[in-house]
Amino acid sequence: KDFRNNIKPNWCPGCGDFSIQAAIQRAAANVGLEPEDLAVVSGIGCSGRISGYINAYGFHGVHGRSLPIAQGVKMANRELTVLAAGGDGDGFAIGMGHTVHAIRRNIDITYIVMDNQIYGLTKGQTSPRSAEGFKTKSTPAGSIESALSPLEVALAAGATFIAQSFSSNLKQLTSLIEQGMQHKGFSFINVFSPCVTFNKVNTYDWFKENIVNLEETPDYDPTNRVMAMTKIMETGSMLTGLIYQNTAKTSYESHVPGFKEQGLANQNIQITEDEFNKLVAEFK
Ligand code: SF4
Repeated sequence: KDFRNNIKPNWCPGCGDFSIQAAIQRAAANVGLEPEDLAVVSGIGCSGRISGYINAYGFHGVHGRSLPIAQGVKMANRELTVLAAGGDGDGFAIGMGHTVHAIRRNIDITYIVMDNQIYGLTKGQTSPRSAEGFKTKSTPAGSIESALSPLEVALAAGATFIAQSFSSNLKQLTSLIEQGMQHKGFSFINVFSPCVTFNKVNTYDWFKENIVNLEETPDYDPTNRVMAMTKIMETGSMLTGLIYQNTAKTSYESHVPGFKEQGLANQNIQITEDEFNKLVAEFK
Protein backbone atom coordinates (compact mmCIF):
# COMPACT_ATOMS: atom_id res chain seq x y z
CA LYS A 1 0.00 0.00 0.00
CA ASP A 2 2.27 2.72 -1.21
CA PHE A 3 0.49 5.99 -1.91
CA ARG A 4 3.71 7.70 -3.00
CA ASN A 5 4.41 8.27 -6.69
CA ASN A 6 7.54 9.45 -8.45
CA ILE A 7 6.40 13.04 -8.99
CA LYS A 8 8.44 15.56 -6.99
CA PRO A 9 6.23 18.30 -5.52
CA ASN A 10 7.19 21.80 -6.64
CA TRP A 11 6.06 23.44 -3.41
CA CYS A 12 8.57 25.82 -1.80
CA PRO A 13 10.92 24.13 0.71
CA GLY A 14 9.25 24.33 4.13
CA CYS A 15 5.68 24.72 2.80
CA GLY A 16 3.13 23.17 5.15
CA ASP A 17 1.54 21.29 2.26
CA PHE A 18 4.29 18.63 2.32
CA SER A 19 3.07 17.34 5.68
CA ILE A 20 -0.54 17.24 4.52
CA GLN A 21 0.50 15.13 1.55
CA ALA A 22 2.38 12.75 3.88
CA ALA A 23 -0.55 12.59 6.31
CA ILE A 24 -3.01 11.67 3.55
CA GLN A 25 -0.67 8.94 2.28
CA ARG A 26 -0.21 7.51 5.79
CA ALA A 27 -3.89 7.75 6.69
CA ALA A 28 -4.95 5.97 3.50
CA ALA A 29 -2.55 3.12 4.23
CA ASN A 30 -3.52 2.96 7.90
CA VAL A 31 -7.23 2.53 7.13
CA GLY A 32 -6.40 -0.33 4.79
CA LEU A 33 -7.01 1.28 1.40
CA GLU A 34 -5.29 0.29 -1.82
CA PRO A 35 -4.39 3.04 -4.33
CA GLU A 36 -7.30 1.96 -6.55
CA ASP A 37 -9.72 2.53 -3.64
CA LEU A 38 -8.93 6.25 -3.30
CA ALA A 39 -9.80 9.28 -5.44
CA VAL A 40 -8.22 12.66 -4.68
CA VAL A 41 -9.90 15.71 -6.20
CA SER A 42 -8.36 19.17 -5.91
CA GLY A 43 -9.06 22.75 -6.91
CA ILE A 44 -6.63 25.45 -8.03
CA GLY A 45 -3.81 26.95 -5.98
CA CYS A 46 -0.52 25.65 -4.62
CA SER A 47 -2.65 23.16 -2.67
CA GLY A 48 -4.41 22.05 -5.85
CA ARG A 49 -1.29 20.24 -7.01
CA ILE A 50 -1.78 17.60 -4.34
CA SER A 51 -3.98 15.38 -6.49
CA GLY A 52 -0.95 14.76 -8.72
CA TYR A 53 1.35 13.85 -5.84
CA ILE A 54 -0.58 10.88 -4.45
CA ASN A 55 -0.62 7.41 -5.97
CA ALA A 56 -4.40 7.14 -6.37
CA TYR A 57 -7.05 8.33 -8.84
CA GLY A 58 -6.50 12.08 -9.20
CA PHE A 59 -8.59 14.91 -10.62
CA HIS A 60 -7.16 18.45 -10.68
CA GLY A 61 -10.31 20.49 -11.16
CA VAL A 62 -10.98 24.19 -11.50
CA HIS A 63 -10.89 26.96 -8.93
CA GLY A 64 -13.35 26.45 -6.10
CA ARG A 65 -14.95 23.41 -7.74
CA SER A 66 -13.27 20.45 -6.10
CA LEU A 67 -16.40 19.63 -4.10
CA PRO A 68 -18.91 19.35 -6.96
CA ILE A 69 -16.47 17.04 -8.76
CA ALA A 70 -15.77 15.00 -5.63
CA GLN A 71 -19.48 14.60 -4.92
CA GLY A 72 -20.03 13.45 -8.52
CA VAL A 73 -17.24 10.89 -8.17
CA LYS A 74 -18.79 9.56 -4.97
CA MET A 75 -22.26 9.31 -6.47
CA ALA A 76 -20.86 7.51 -9.51
CA ASN A 77 -18.80 5.05 -7.50
CA ARG A 78 -19.76 4.58 -3.90
CA GLU A 79 -17.02 2.04 -3.38
CA LEU A 80 -14.31 4.69 -3.68
CA THR A 81 -13.01 6.64 -0.71
CA VAL A 82 -13.19 10.20 -2.01
CA LEU A 83 -11.02 13.00 -0.69
CA ALA A 84 -11.27 16.62 -1.83
CA ALA A 85 -8.52 19.14 -1.08
CA GLY A 86 -7.88 22.80 -1.70
CA GLY A 87 -6.74 26.04 -0.17
CA ASP A 88 -8.61 28.61 1.91
CA GLY A 89 -8.97 30.90 -1.10
CA ASP A 90 -10.29 28.00 -3.16
CA GLY A 91 -12.78 26.71 -0.57
CA PHE A 92 -13.80 29.85 1.30
CA ALA A 93 -13.89 32.47 -1.49
CA ILE A 94 -14.97 31.29 -4.94
CA GLY A 95 -15.91 27.86 -3.62
CA MET A 96 -17.75 28.90 -0.47
CA GLY A 97 -21.21 28.18 -1.87
CA HIS A 98 -20.16 24.63 -2.68
CA THR A 99 -18.52 24.20 0.72
CA VAL A 100 -21.62 25.14 2.72
CA HIS A 101 -23.98 23.02 0.64
CA ALA A 102 -21.67 20.01 0.55
CA ILE A 103 -21.46 20.21 4.34
CA ARG A 104 -25.23 20.25 4.84
CA ARG A 105 -25.74 17.61 2.13
CA ASN A 106 -23.50 15.21 4.09
CA ILE A 107 -22.20 13.08 1.22
CA ASP A 108 -19.57 10.62 2.44
CA ILE A 109 -16.40 12.42 1.38
CA THR A 110 -13.49 13.98 3.27
CA TYR A 111 -12.63 17.61 2.55
CA ILE A 112 -9.22 18.94 3.58
CA VAL A 113 -8.65 22.68 3.46
CA MET A 114 -4.95 23.62 3.37
CA ASP A 115 -5.32 26.90 5.21
CA ASN A 116 -2.34 29.25 4.87
CA GLN A 117 -4.37 32.47 5.27
CA ILE A 118 -3.11 33.93 1.98
CA TYR A 119 -3.18 33.30 -1.79
CA GLY A 120 0.19 31.62 -2.44
CA LEU A 121 0.07 30.60 -6.12
CA THR A 122 -0.71 34.16 -7.26
CA LYS A 123 2.15 35.46 -5.10
CA GLY A 124 0.60 36.75 -1.92
CA GLN A 125 -2.81 38.41 -1.79
CA THR A 126 -5.26 38.67 1.13
CA SER A 127 -7.57 35.64 1.43
CA PRO A 128 -10.84 35.09 3.31
CA ARG A 129 -8.77 33.68 6.17
CA SER A 130 -6.39 36.65 6.45
CA ALA A 131 -6.75 38.60 9.67
CA GLU A 132 -8.05 42.14 9.85
CA GLY A 133 -5.13 44.53 9.31
CA PHE A 134 -3.17 41.90 7.31
CA LYS A 135 -0.98 43.71 4.76
CA THR A 136 -0.40 42.25 1.31
CA LYS A 137 -0.08 43.56 -2.23
CA SER A 138 -3.89 43.55 -2.49
CA THR A 139 -4.41 45.29 0.88
CA PRO A 140 -1.30 47.50 1.34
CA ALA A 141 -2.97 49.49 4.13
CA GLY A 142 -4.16 46.32 5.88
CA SER A 143 -7.26 44.18 5.33
CA ILE A 144 -10.48 45.94 6.31
CA GLU A 145 -12.48 42.69 6.38
CA SER A 146 -12.70 40.23 9.27
CA ALA A 147 -11.24 36.76 8.83
CA LEU A 148 -13.74 34.01 8.17
CA SER A 149 -14.12 31.34 10.86
CA PRO A 150 -14.54 28.10 8.89
CA LEU A 151 -15.24 26.09 12.04
CA GLU A 152 -18.19 28.32 12.99
CA VAL A 153 -19.50 28.18 9.42
CA ALA A 154 -19.18 24.39 9.26
CA LEU A 155 -20.92 23.86 12.57
CA ALA A 156 -23.73 26.28 11.69
CA ALA A 157 -24.17 24.56 8.30
CA GLY A 158 -24.83 21.23 10.01
CA ALA A 159 -21.51 19.45 9.60
CA THR A 160 -21.36 15.94 11.02
CA PHE A 161 -17.55 15.88 11.32
CA ILE A 162 -15.33 18.89 12.02
CA ALA A 163 -11.64 18.73 12.82
CA GLN A 164 -8.71 21.11 12.66
CA SER A 165 -5.00 20.41 12.76
CA PHE A 166 -1.56 21.85 12.09
CA SER A 167 0.81 20.59 9.44
CA SER A 168 3.60 20.39 12.04
CA ASN A 169 1.61 17.84 14.03
CA LEU A 170 1.80 14.90 11.64
CA LYS A 171 0.59 12.36 14.20
CA GLN A 172 -2.59 14.27 15.03
CA LEU A 173 -3.22 15.22 11.41
CA THR A 174 -2.86 11.63 10.20
CA SER A 175 -5.21 10.37 12.90
CA LEU A 176 -7.85 13.02 12.08
CA ILE A 177 -7.71 12.18 8.35
CA GLU A 178 -8.15 8.49 9.21
CA GLN A 179 -11.18 9.36 11.36
CA GLY A 180 -12.54 11.56 8.58
CA MET A 181 -12.18 8.78 6.00
CA GLN A 182 -13.97 6.36 8.32
CA HIS A 183 -16.79 8.79 9.18
CA LYS A 184 -19.99 7.95 7.27
CA GLY A 185 -20.81 11.42 5.99
CA PHE A 186 -19.07 14.68 5.07
CA SER A 187 -15.84 15.23 7.00
CA PHE A 188 -14.49 18.75 7.15
CA ILE A 189 -10.83 19.07 8.18
CA ASN A 190 -9.18 22.50 8.23
CA VAL A 191 -5.39 22.36 8.42
CA PHE A 192 -3.11 25.26 9.33
CA SER A 193 -0.46 25.00 6.60
CA PRO A 194 2.07 27.87 6.71
CA CYS A 195 3.03 29.59 3.45
CA VAL A 196 6.70 30.25 4.19
CA THR A 197 7.20 32.39 1.12
CA PHE A 198 4.41 34.97 1.30
CA ASN A 199 2.88 34.87 4.78
CA LYS A 200 5.42 36.26 7.24
CA VAL A 201 2.82 36.69 10.00
CA ASN A 202 1.15 33.27 10.39
CA THR A 203 4.40 31.34 10.64
CA TYR A 204 5.12 27.93 12.26
CA ASP A 205 6.14 29.75 15.45
CA TRP A 206 2.99 31.89 15.41
CA PHE A 207 0.77 28.80 15.16
CA LYS A 208 2.71 27.01 17.91
CA GLU A 209 2.09 29.97 20.22
CA ASN A 210 -1.59 30.38 19.39
CA ILE A 211 -2.99 26.87 18.90
CA VAL A 212 -5.22 25.36 21.59
CA ASN A 213 -4.90 21.57 21.38
CA LEU A 214 -8.07 19.76 22.43
CA GLU A 215 -6.00 16.71 23.33
CA GLU A 216 -4.94 18.75 26.36
CA THR A 217 -8.57 19.46 27.31
CA PRO A 218 -9.73 16.13 28.78
CA ASP A 219 -13.30 17.17 29.66
CA TYR A 220 -14.07 18.27 26.10
CA ASP A 221 -16.96 16.34 24.50
CA PRO A 222 -16.86 16.36 20.66
CA THR A 223 -20.46 15.11 20.47
CA ASN A 224 -21.75 18.27 22.17
CA ARG A 225 -22.57 20.85 19.50
CA VAL A 226 -23.09 23.72 21.91
CA MET A 227 -19.80 22.99 23.66
CA ALA A 228 -18.09 22.90 20.25
CA MET A 229 -19.41 26.32 19.22
CA THR A 230 -18.56 27.82 22.61
CA LYS A 231 -15.00 26.50 22.48
CA ILE A 232 -14.50 27.63 18.88
CA MET A 233 -15.59 31.16 19.77
CA GLU A 234 -13.63 31.25 23.05
CA THR A 235 -10.40 30.34 21.26
CA GLY A 236 -10.85 32.44 18.12
CA SER A 237 -11.06 29.26 15.99
CA MET A 238 -7.55 28.21 17.03
CA LEU A 239 -8.59 24.75 18.26
CA THR A 240 -6.91 21.62 16.97
CA GLY A 241 -8.23 18.08 17.31
CA LEU A 242 -11.62 16.49 16.74
CA ILE A 243 -14.03 19.36 17.33
CA TYR A 244 -17.40 17.83 16.54
CA GLN A 245 -18.82 14.52 15.34
CA ASN A 246 -22.39 13.39 14.86
CA THR A 247 -22.67 9.73 13.91
CA ALA A 248 -26.48 9.62 14.13
CA LYS A 249 -27.10 11.43 10.83
CA THR A 250 -26.82 9.13 7.82
CA SER A 251 -25.07 10.15 4.62
CA TYR A 252 -26.83 11.68 1.61
CA GLU A 253 -26.21 8.88 -0.84
CA SER A 254 -27.61 6.26 1.53
CA HIS A 255 -31.04 7.92 1.10
CA VAL A 256 -31.13 8.21 -2.69
CA PRO A 257 -33.19 5.48 -4.39
CA GLY A 258 -31.12 3.67 -6.98
CA PHE A 259 -27.85 4.97 -5.53
CA LYS A 260 -28.06 3.63 -2.03
CA GLU A 261 -27.44 0.07 -3.11
CA GLN A 262 -24.80 0.76 -5.77
CA GLY A 263 -23.10 3.74 -7.41
CA LEU A 264 -23.77 4.46 -11.09
CA ALA A 265 -20.50 2.91 -12.20
CA ASN A 266 -21.62 -0.50 -10.96
CA GLN A 267 -25.23 -0.44 -12.09
CA ASN A 268 -26.43 -2.57 -14.97
CA ILE A 269 -27.82 -0.04 -17.42
CA GLN A 270 -28.27 -2.42 -20.37
CA ILE A 271 -31.81 -2.10 -21.72
CA THR A 272 -33.60 -3.51 -24.74
CA GLU A 273 -34.60 -1.40 -27.73
CA ASP A 274 -38.27 -1.62 -26.67
CA GLU A 275 -37.43 -0.43 -23.15
CA PHE A 276 -35.35 2.41 -24.59
CA ASN A 277 -38.17 3.53 -26.92
CA LYS A 278 -40.65 3.39 -24.05
CA LEU A 279 -38.35 5.56 -21.95
CA VAL A 280 -37.94 8.11 -24.76
CA ALA A 281 -41.74 8.16 -25.29
CA GLU A 282 -42.22 9.22 -21.68
CA PHE A 283 -40.30 12.43 -22.37
CA LYS A 284 -42.12 13.35 -25.60
FE1 SF4 B 1 3.59 26.76 -0.20
FE2 SF4 B 1 3.40 29.41 -0.18
FE3 SF4 B 1 5.26 28.25 -1.68
FE4 SF4 B 1 2.68 28.06 -2.33
S1 SF4 B 1 3.91 29.93 -2.30
S2 SF4 B 1 4.18 26.38 -2.36
S3 SF4 B 1 1.68 27.95 -0.34
S4 SF4 B 1 5.13 28.18 0.56
